[in-house]
Amino acid sequence: MIYRELGTTGLKVSEIALGCEGMTEENYTMCKKFFDLAEKEGINYFDLYSPNPELRSAIGRALTGRREKFIIQSHLCSVWKDGQYQRTRNLREVKAGFEEMMKLLNVEFIDVGMIHYCDALSDWDDIINNGILDYARELKAKGLIHHIGLSSHNPQVALKAVESKSIEVLMFSVNPCYDLQPASEDVEDLWADENYSNHLTNMDPEREKLYETCQSSGVGITVMKCFGGGDLLNAELSPAGAALTVNQCIAYALSRPAVACVLAGAHSVEQLRESLNYENAPENEKDYALALASFPKISWKGHCMYCSHCEPCPVKIDIANVTKFLNLAQSAKNIPETVREHYKSLEHHAGECIRCGACEKRCPFGVAIRENMKAAKNLFGM
Ligand code: SF4
Ligand code: SF4
Repeated sequence: MIYRELGTTGLKVSEIALGCEGMTEENYTMCKKFFDLAEKEGINYFDLYSPNPELRSAIGRALTGRREKFIIQSHLCSVWKDGQYQRTRNLREVKAGFEEMMKLLNVEFIDVGMIHYCDALSDWDDIINNGILDYARELKAKGLIHHIGLSSHNPQVALKAVESKSIEVLMFSVNPCYDLQPASEDVEDLWADENYSNHLTNMDPEREKLYETCQSSGVGITVMKCFGGGDLLNAELSPAGAALTVNQCIAYALSRPAVACVLAGAHSVEQLRESLNYENAPENEKDYALALASFPKISWKGHCMYCSHCEPCPVKIDIANVTKFLNLAQSAKNIPETVREHYKSLEHHAGECIRCGACEKRCPFGVAIRENMKAAKNLFGM
């Protein structure tokens, strides 16, 4: 298992993490099977958004004797009412929900207290105005949560939260279909067939800005919906008109800037195993670039996917990383020091480019690599 930094939290998380939304059989035996496999395979991070009390206490039992082996991301504002899940911004309900969660999970602290499901700008205002963000800060000051997070599908809302410097972790929906869609306050828009009827080209600029801002400001992203709820794995259901494999979806999400882990939402232990297979899969099975380049309804022409198909470069420039640092630097007003340092630490720099053009012939997305090398040299001075 590969472990990655979760932004600047100081936590090192397994790149394959466990999403618990598929644990609908909420019984202890089933939860224990998931956590046994997770522990055995080195998964050390999981997300729990469900407020279902039976599921929470089953997970609490499954964690008994091994709490320290897992980093818990669990949600504020997700409560159980009249026998079902509800999202709330009512502070009294949020507090009661948190206290109940701690009791049911039987833990002393939550590593990441995730403010749940905020897809509208007005909702972010409610989170601030209703005292929810202050409550999260209070919990953090008391050591009951160690870091504050937010979950969202909307890049505008997420960016506002990141830029406010109020959150340290973002749980965000990342897959190559969503990434082409403009921001919306309705999550259904991201998958609606009519929004794929005109050939979609290139990543939505707000999403790109979000990932790059997270990276440069040290906010770690934990990924949800990397398989588009499973639809992206099925050519008939995929809105892009073609399917990717589990390994390709995971590789895509893990190659976005700031992403620390993919929450593999498994409905069965076998499905979790499928995601875990990623760790030992050969590189050619993870390669999503050629598959994406052949998708009938969407394209990334001119956009660097950080896939490294353009290499090898005769002067050994790591083109994907140089381009990533260039994009990060260009998205910020001033080049962040961390980006400058990472660029500097590369073995070869854009200034060494001899403009042979060999890379451009190999790039499936038609990226103007020589122009990018020139821009990187001008920006970083090397
Ligand atoms: S320039 Fe093209 S081939 Fe190279 S990393 Fe970017 S998208 Fe991939
Ligand atoms: S054009 Fe520059 S970056 Fe591309 S392969 Fe040639 S030397 Fe390397």
